[in-house]
Amino acid sequence: MPPTKEERREALKAVYHQAKGCTSCPQLAATRTTVVFGNGNADADLMFVGEAPGANEDRQGLPFVGQAGKLLDTLLGEIGLSRPDVFVANVLKCRPPGNRDPHPAEIEACQEYLLRQVELIEPRVICTLGNFATKLLRGDPTGITRLHGREEVRAIGRRAVRLYPIFHPAAALYTPANVEVLRADFARLPELLALDLPPQPEPALEEPVAVADAGEDEPAAGAVREAEAGSPAADERYAAAADAEEPEHEADEPDAEDDERALEPVAVQLGLF
Ligand code: URA
Repeated sequence: MPPTKEERREALKAVYHQAKGCTSCPQLAATRTTVVFGNGNADADLMFVGEAPGANEDRQGLPFVGQAGKLLDTLLGEIGLSRPDVFVANVLKCRPPGNRDPHPAEIEACQEYLLRQVELIEPRVICTLGNFATKLLRGDPTGITRLHGREEVRAIGRRAVRLYPIFHPAAALYTPANVEVLRADFARLPELLALDLPPQPEPALEEPVAVADAGEDEPAAGAVREAEAGSPAADERYAAAADAEEPEHEADEPDAEDDERALEPVAVQLGLF
């Protein structure tokens, strides 16, 4: 019997509690303020996967609350959706200090949380934002510039979804032409959400431990090593975007409502809006 919606939500809460105390990456565990598990609708058809929390996200415990998040909200609004309709998570649940790129070992250590999120939320469409999420979930080093706007059916752990890579909003912020590309890619989301659910894999006998369909050993780490080794725009774009977000974070203290939300992590992070 497949789990009920309620059972999936309870299981997701258990994963959240596990992630909250995670010390798999000693440096990240030592420097983070909060574990940014993700938030939104725990039963969403559409899930976004970004890279890693920045300073503001780390402080508030919520994903995409800076400038990139504002752009995400705007683009969602343009297709008639808002945060409570979707679930937003990241490849890493903890902020890399100084907004450095995620390390391959960190991505590998954290990927089980993301796979469990996908398995329990049961999205139909997963929109990967930028290179890190795209490379991880595709298990392949092909970059976002080639892949954006092209959907494909992929098995992510136990869940077959339509995977839809698009540019990271932070990258688009600093390359205005990319905002229009992002907007055009976003505009196809309603059409993808209206498609049938892809045929699902046979139920596995064991817990999933790796991204399916990768077809190679340690796909995630391999994919990211490539990015770190100098894949063109990604590193610079993200660094520039992240750096540029920092001053805003300093100046832009969370308002009272955000504070309250941050104090109720389970309810908020699991989308019990
Ligand atoms: N960038 C990301 O990739 N994730 C966030 O949560 C915020 C900015």
